Amino acid sequence: MLSGVDHDVPDGIGMARLAWTRLPTADGEEAGPSTSAAADYELLSAAAIESLDYEVIENYAYREEQAQRSKFWVPYYVMLKWLFSLLIGVGTGLAAIFINLAVENFSGWKYTATFAIIKHSYFVGFFVYTVFNLALVFSSVYIVTNFAPAAAGSGIPEIKGYLNGVDTPGILLLRTLVGKIFGSIGSVGGGLALGKEGPLVHTGACIASLLGQGGSAKYHLNSRWVRIFESDRDRRDLVTCGCAAGVAAAFRAPVGGVLFALEEVTSWWRSHLMWRVFFTSAVVAVVVRSAMNWCNSGKCGHFGAGGFIIWDISGGQEDYSYQELFPMAIIGVIGGLLGALFNQLTLYITKWRRTYLHKKGKRVQIFEACLISLVTSTISFVLPLLRKCSPCPQLETNSGIECPHPPGTDGNFVNFYCSKDREYNDLATIFFNTQDDAIRNLFSAKTFHEYSAQSLITFLVMFYSLAVVTFGTAVPAGQFVPGIMIGSTYGRLVGMFVVKFYKKLNIEEGTYALLGAASFLGGSMRMTVSLCVIMVEITNNLQLLPLIMLVLLVSKAVGDFFNEGLYEEQARLRGIPLLDSRPKQVMRNMTAKDACKNQKVVCLPRVSRIVDIVSVLRTNKHNGFPVVDRGQNGEPLVIGLILRSHLLVLLQAKVDFQNSPFPCGPGVLNRHNFSDFVKPASSKGKSIDDIHLTEDELGLYLDLAPFLNPSPYIVPEDMSLAKVYNLFRQLGLRHIFVVPRPSRVVGLITRKDLLLEEHSNNVMAELQSTSG
Ligand code: ATP
Ligand code: MG
Repeated sequence: MLSGVDHDVPDGIGMARLAWTRLPTADGEEAGPSTSAAADYELLSAAAIESLDYEVIENYAYREEQAQRSKFWVPYYVMLKWLFSLLIGVGTGLAAIFINLAVENFSGWKYTATFAIIKHSYFVGFFVYTVFNLALVFSSVYIVTNFAPAAAGSGIPEIKGYLNGVDTPGILLLRTLVGKIFGSIGSVGGGLALGKEGPLVHTGACIASLLGQGGSAKYHLNSRWVRIFESDRDRRDLVTCGCAAGVAAAFRAPVGGVLFALEEVTSWWRSHLMWRVFFTSAVVAVVVRSAMNWCNSGKCGHFGAGGFIIWDISGGQEDYSYQELFPMAIIGVIGGLLGALFNQLTLYITKWRRTYLHKKGKRVQIFEACLISLVTSTISFVLPLLRKCSPCPQLETNSGIECPHPPGTDGNFVNFYCSKDREYNDLATIFFNTQDDAIRNLFSAKTFHEYSAQSLITFLVMFYSLAVVTFGTAVPAGQFVPGIMIGSTYGRLVGMFVVKFYKKLNIEEGTYALLGAASFLGGSMRMTVSLCVIMVEITNNLQLLPLIMLVLLVSKAVGDFFNEGLYEEQARLRGIPLLDSRPKQVMRNMTAKDACKNQKVVCLPRVSRIVDIVSVLRTNKHNGFPVVDRGQNGEPLVIGLILRSHLLVLLQAKVDFQNSPFPCGPGVLNRHNFSDFVKPASSKGKSIDDIHLTEDELGLYLDLAPFLNPSPYIVPEDMSLAKVYNLFRQLGLRHIFVVPRPSRVVGLITRKDLLLEEHSNNVMAELQSTSG
């Protein structure tokens, strides 16, 4: 009953290549939105979301290609996959370095200038700081709204959808990649309450997809020689590698990257893929390390000692006692509650934005982002002015006194609006600083009570509100860093109380800040294993592993009680029809027939008149049509499924039109030149209205048999819908035929029949006995 192959070996080039080349999201600029406004893009993309073809279409061309392949094809193909994994790793690593380099330098210039000016006038300093931030945010929102609407947000819900089998137009285009990189620099450098980690995952996916398709056809930056992985299936693997590379680059956490891809973004996973993803992440780690070593010598401006700070957090308490488990579980509960609240608030605000704000066009979106930038700059500058400074602490680790550093450099204790030199402003240390330094400061285990509870609460409330409001603006935005900052603030607060209660224990507030960060991310994103490993990789402290596990489990459980994870909620809101890993309970009591009740199936005859095909395509929106022929006794016989996209390519190419209303013989098929027929033109996003046919052509015929999928997946009508769901989801299908109970059984296939060695021995023995 089931057909199709779950290969790790190549797909067919012929029609399978055709399937890709018309369908790519990545390159078919035509597939992208025709409008430049992000608002229109949101509406367009929800309507244009379409499934991907992960199934191998084993049509005539595919079988021809398979037969012609030499025995070296498989090793060649596998080797190329590894080469591409390497290239994805290098590309994503370099993109991450570029983004960090730019962000650190912009922030460095901003804080150097502001601090030089506030020695003379705080008002002018505030003005310069605000204008600097505004200019960066404006550049980001301008790029996104005018040039790359798909680059807004983190991109993770869309990539998750892509790997689940649905294609959002424009998410993997070259301009989206460029928009994402430069947009992130503007939005993160401009001090908004968002991060660059989510966008880096999207960046990795774009790089992977563009490499797989050999560049961008629209900008004439492509090469046929690199275009090897053209099927949606192959690209799915490459995009998975790209996602892992993004996380590996963002946190310098290679294993975390692999697990993130496995746990959060992919829907299908194979052991072969695991190896390649692992390799890509390792490559990223090496590339990033080399760049850091080079920049640490001061060759990269402000990027160097202060750059990539988020990755260099080490220390934390060496051990923990059992009494601490209770407050740590409380951190988990707070994380679950605040994370679920964050998801709910962002959901409401995004809905509201879509309905009232973003419809009004890109000017409103630009104005909105700029307004949020102004508010963020004002809050982060003015609130620390209201705090009193404290004397620099005497450090235990070195005998001297830790003196204030300007923000944006390596160190904590920012001297801002203090009357004396050897003082620091605790709120400015976390608020008036680059994100990476702020996190490092919050995680810091150097001193006790470095921050007052009042400052921490002020920061928590203000930053949480800013993160909620900033989420959903038309700029590239990740939620990892805001999540870490929010979580580490209340974690540190809890830590301060624990220190008071358990005076005798060796407790460090920084450790609690780390647990708080893990708990908020767990409560909002609902990841467990990958987050846990990322946290351990960031801190280099294996001792903390059980504690991080504990808070993650608690926060996820609490969050799950209220709502879905952030990415699932956002995917649903964007109209991305994600299929969960499990069917709904009600599906157990439904049958396949129930799911397609009242459906009048639109079929095509094997040899169809062009005018009929055009009329079917015009009057229906369906993407697949059963093809019916006549059996030997004249009874109707379903011979396969033809995709709308294939029909469009056939109609556009016109080379297969025939005068005769009868099937063409096999001789004709053998003479047919498929490589001429396979055109790299994309038909995705194209409609039947784009194809112009003359009256004469409309009267001709087309034999669909060579182009259809002769072995679509078929289920009997009384199969439970839950079973159909599992089949559909696990095999990544696009269509399933529902048929009546068959009248006879040709054979049974069991495990042993699929063990090819035994099977081929039996076949050989049988052949020998018949020939003998
Ligand atoms: P895709 O992303 O592939 O477009 P879809 O769910 O939007 O997926 P469509 O092909 O647009 O699928 O079909 C929409 C609805 O029409 C579904 O309920 C499907 O069962 C039904 N349908 C699809 N193909 C046919 C057909 N050939 N005849 C009758 N009904 C069909
Ligand atoms: Mg559809």
